[in-house]
Amino acid sequence: MTEMTSAQRTLTVALGERSYPIHIGVGLLKRDNVLVPYLAGHQVMIVTNETIAPLYLEAICSGLPGHLDVRTVVLPDGEQYKTIEQVSRIWDALLEAGFNRRCTLVALGGGVIGDMVGYAAAAYQRGVAFIQVPTTLLSQVDSSVGGKTGVNHPLGKNMIGAFWQPKAVIVDIDTLSTLPGRELSAGLAEVIKYGLIRDEAFLSWLEENMQALRNVEPVVTAEAIAQSCQIKADIVAEDETEQGVRALLNLGHTFGHAIEAHQGYGNWLHGEAVGAGMTMAATLSHQLGWIDSSALERAKAVIASAGLPLAAPADMLADDFLARMKLDKKNVDEKLRLVLLEALGSACVSDATPSDTLRELLNHYPR
Ligand code: NAD
Ligand code: MG
Repeated sequence: MTEMTSAQRTLTVALGERSYPIHIGVGLLKRDNVLVPYLAGHQVMIVTNETIAPLYLEAICSGLPGHLDVRTVVLPDGEQYKTIEQVSRIWDALLEAGFNRRCTLVALGGGVIGDMVGYAAAAYQRGVAFIQVPTTLLSQVDSSVGGKTGVNHPLGKNMIGAFWQPKAVIVDIDTLSTLPGRELSAGLAEVIKYGLIRDEAFLSWLEENMQALRNVEPVVTAEAIAQSCQIKADIVAEDETEQGVRALLNLGHTFGHAIEAHQGYGNWLHGEAVGAGMTMAATLSHQLGWIDSSALERAKAVIASAGLPLAAPADMLADDFLARMKLDKKNVDEKLRLVLLEALGSACVSDATPSDTLRELLNHYPR
């Protein structure tokens, strides 16, 4: 990997006419006109939540030229508010302001805000421009890239949504200075995931730089975000609507979703559940003879060094896992499909795990 000394990076998500840049750097929000090249017209609606508004709303508004018509919507904070009712509040604000098809929505916040604002933009007047300004590490490396937008339904998470790509993603690393440590670790789970599924050299680099990442040192953080976004962008460019390779991004997520759902959303953060889930997937890959014990130990060590749990929840039985895992969207014809490791840096989707091997893993896996 080439040595980088600056914390500024730009990369591109290559989707033909819908291609867009990801700008990564420090002090971007305070920079004048950072959003201007991506605005469709003079009408701008910035959407954020009650936690982020006092921290960053003023900075982003002050960088916009005075002739623009800038409005704001501040939603309540929390996954439980990722609902169609809250998206409707965005549509109400747009209509009350008389905003037309040339307006631009700006999502200032974590993945919850990004997913909702993207969906609001996808449906408002059959689709308007939006810009992602992600403020959590998870949203900077994952949810803001790739165009999956949507909300939860009382009967299922992310069940209502659309593919709708942003005009740009603006990642200001300074926003991570206020992010709680647990949330930072949760984002690192997805960063490690990219190394495990696609890039052994990146994984080695993460092993060396984990402490700097946990300290949010700007150059190292910019590099980790850029590498992560590049891997996600490459996968999305290959398979925008998840017909194939995009499923590899679910490493650890089948086990992880089962943990999140069983523990009640919010008790285990998504990234924490993915940390334990990736460890379970690596352990299963080892039991199937696909990776050796030194590879398994490396995977476990890097996950632990990010401050993530390796063990499954104490009160979760094998049957609790199996009942939840049966509902996974990747399954085809009732066959359980899991993302497994063929090596560090290489993953595949497999439905070849014998059911007694899986039950054996779940029975004996550390709690
Ligand atoms: P989040 O948006 O709930 O943010 C986590 C917490 O951090 C919130 O309380 C938020 O207000 C706070 N916060 C955000 N930025 C902050 C900052 N800079 N300083 C201090 N506090 C800050 O959670 P998340 O982990 O960012 O995103 C999770 C959501 O993303 C889930 O709804 C998930 O379904 C979705 N997601 C979507 C995709 C996708 O491809 N669209 C991918 C992964 C996850
Ligand atoms: Mg995830």
